[in-house]
Amino acid sequence: MTDASTTRAPLNWPAIIMFLISTIPVVTVFPWYAATFGFDGFEWVSFFVLWALNGMSITAGYHRLWAHRSYEASKPLQIFYMLFGAMALQNSILVWASSHRTHHRHVDDVDHDPYSAKRGLWFSHLGWMLRNYESGKQDFRNAKDLEANPIVAFQHKYYVPLAVGMNVGVPLLLGWMHGDIWGSLLLGGFLRLVVSHHCTFFINSLAHYWGSRPYTTENTARDNGLLALFTWGEGYHNYHHLFQWDYRNGIRWYQWDPTKWLISACKFLGLARSLKRVPEFQIRQALVQRQLQKAEEKLGQLQDHGRLAALRQSLETEVQHYKETLARWAALQQQRVEAARKAVIDHIEHNEFLARVRELEESLRQQYLRVRLLAVQAA
Ligand SMILES: [Zn+2]
Ligand SMILES: [Zn+2]
Repeated sequence: MTDASTTRAPLNWPAIIMFLISTIPVVTVFPWYAATFGFDGFEWVSFFVLWALNGMSITAGYHRLWAHRSYEASKPLQIFYMLFGAMALQNSILVWASSHRTHHRHVDDVDHDPYSAKRGLWFSHLGWMLRNYESGKQDFRNAKDLEANPIVAFQHKYYVPLAVGMNVGVPLLLGWMHGDIWGSLLLGGFLRLVVSHHCTFFINSLAHYWGSRPYTTENTARDNGLLALFTWGEGYHNYHHLFQWDYRNGIRWYQWDPTKWLISACKFLGLARSLKRVPEFQIRQALVQRQLQKAEEKLGQLQDHGRLAALRQSLETEVQHYKETLARWAALQQQRVEAARKAVIDHIEHNEFLARVRELEESLRQQYLRVRLLAVQAA
């Protein structure tokens, strides 16, 4: 055990008070009010809408835009994220994004990752915010770009009035319009805040414990389609930790990633641009590499010598095939760079290049299936 995990850090009273103020009414007054007066459709819709606006201002704004710079957003969109992100009460953009960059850089490190999953589920979910741990110390040297952003700087300076104003003001306004201030405050104010908090915190806790690791075993991050449902698409955390600069977390069309859809819609409306995507070939490469590693592990545990020799032979062929595919890819890239330098690349050549890239991607896709089968046979 290191100093960071054993030293009792001083309590972080502002955070503790904030969590108490938001949670106590939800477990006391809320059930009584719901049983006595109930809530109508308008109130439930405003609860979901506010939760979505808060949740996605964190995932699309705080996380994918500011922490990872996976795309560029226009000023109106940034102001929107800034206001509804403040309403989510997860600290300022600057504090959040800076500590999140530290999380990626030192993932799982008990001394440096502010919410290291290696320090337990409770710590990574909520515990890290309740005390002023050394590992959570603010250091904005990794966020100079954000300090220079006037919208981020403004929110950081006026964070408390903005956060309180949005949390009290928006539910009060809705309640006043609808004629039920208390109902709106309880549902759109308190319950929305608690639900939105814990769903975001799942990404630091459960998404590092529960799920599969199809891309990398270098860290504890997991892919979990069920968690994606509650986290606006952030459940594909194993992918995200390997390819953090991709604006997508769920890369396949059938994966639930409303944050990705929101960003794409914003691009369509002219509010976002320069959306970054990891090339498909690189993704397939990671998948095959991980699958080869899995097959290797399975073969290592196998006792049956007759089958083992045949499977090992197949695995060696696959490894060879994988290396050849990578070499063909590298040669193709080289040709492309040279053609671009000589400025001879025309439309036909470009299409041919894309066709060859797709062929290599398909080759890796097929190989992934073969190696997966091989791992199953070895089990
Ligand atoms: Zn993480
Ligand atoms: Zn991230």
